[in-house]
Amino acid sequence: MKIREVSITPVAFADPPLLNVMGVHEPWALRSVLRLTTEDGIVGLGESYGDAAFLEMAGRVAPRIVGHDVFDLPGLRALVAAAVSGSVFTDQHGLTGAFSGDKTLATVCAFFEVAALDAQGRALGRPVVDLLGGAARERVDFSAYLFYKYGEHRNGRGDDWGDVRTPESVVDEARQMIDQYGFRSIKLKGGVLPPDQEIAAMRALAQAFPGYPLRVDPNGAWQVDTSIRVAKELDGVLEYLEDPTPGIEGMAAVAEQASMPLATNMCVVRFADLPPAIARKSVGIVLSDHHYWGGLRQTQALSVLCETFGIGLSMHSNSHLGISLAAMVHVAAATPHLTYACDTHWPWKTEDVIVPGVLEFVDGAVAVPTTPGLGVELDPDALARGHENFLRSGQTARDDATYMRHYEPNFTPNIARW
Ligand SMILES: [Mg+2]
Repeated sequence: MKIREVSITPVAFADPPLLNVMGVHEPWALRSVLRLTTEDGIVGLGESYGDAAFLEMAGRVAPRIVGHDVFDLPGLRALVAAAVSGSVFTDQHGLTGAFSGDKTLATVCAFFEVAALDAQGRALGRPVVDLLGGAARERVDFSAYLFYKYGEHRNGRGDDWGDVRTPESVVDEARQMIDQYGFRSIKLKGGVLPPDQEIAAMRALAQAFPGYPLRVDPNGAWQVDTSIRVAKELDGVLEYLEDPTPGIEGMAAVAEQASMPLATNMCVVRFADLPPAIARKSVGIVLSDHHYWGGLRQTQALSVLCETFGIGLSMHSNSHLGISLAAMVHVAAATPHLTYACDTHWPWKTEDVIVPGVLEFVDGAVAVPTTPGLGVELDPDALARGHENFLRSGQTARDDATYMRHYEPNFTPNIARW
């Protein structure tokens, strides 16, 4: 089933001013939407990053895969490898660790692999989860992903969430999100305020939501000693502690002293990172993310390695739209070892490019679509609006630090600050 046409559409959607170690989210989040049309008119969908560097790399691949069979995924990978050979992204696409040639290849491959799998599923009349071996679970749990945030953007655009920079407002944000989506576990994006304030926020969450698994992710904002102190203070409070400090060695030093497992989407971000992290016992849980691990099948390969070495598997998220959520749900459902509630930025957006109604959160979980392929359909008008937003946004790369300096002129990213 040969590819007749490849179309990549960059889109932007409104994003609230969410704070993290690098600064604050800009007014627009950028994504790209891929459509692979086959000779018999089947369209497979993909979604990934929308910055200029990614678009340039994906654009190189597009003409090379016309005429390729969507069922030949090794051949597709070889075509992508030839197109991106020697290139390395310098953009982390949002705190996903160091970039490298193999991670760049995996990132571009994933974009095309998901669309090929969607087309395969539509051709066979089977959901993508069936192409990945079948559903180990019918519903995929997600966590309430809390952020500290400003009340409004510099352009005056506000949102339903308000200013969140105190333990009390973090609890209010959690309540609002859980009331709406039913999440049964909670993650706070930390690394924004001094550690004692973030400890206070986690304790307030533990008190307000007894029995809920809790996680905090400061994205490497803390030094080793600080990380060990925070781990001791939050003993019995956290399900896991995510990337307290940078690097495999730093994480190993913290892991030795921490009672709870350490998780990462920063020091283990490609297969080559696994041997040293395993040897040093740096992490107890890896956060997968098909967007940069090479796609849905490579996420399953990661899962097997993690299970072999006694490492748990969870899932990382960047700002994303419905095509990506569908892909995340299919792969999580088909991966038995992925037992932790996945991350998602879904509650933070107010618009999408897909026809609504398929991906609904009930009790914090999304039912795996049962219709062919990913199970989601593009809304052409919404896609056009997203593309208009992209053109109007003037953004070409994610740059939380520069935007943060509009709020705090002397801001420098917080990596290992405390
Ligand atoms: Mg993380």
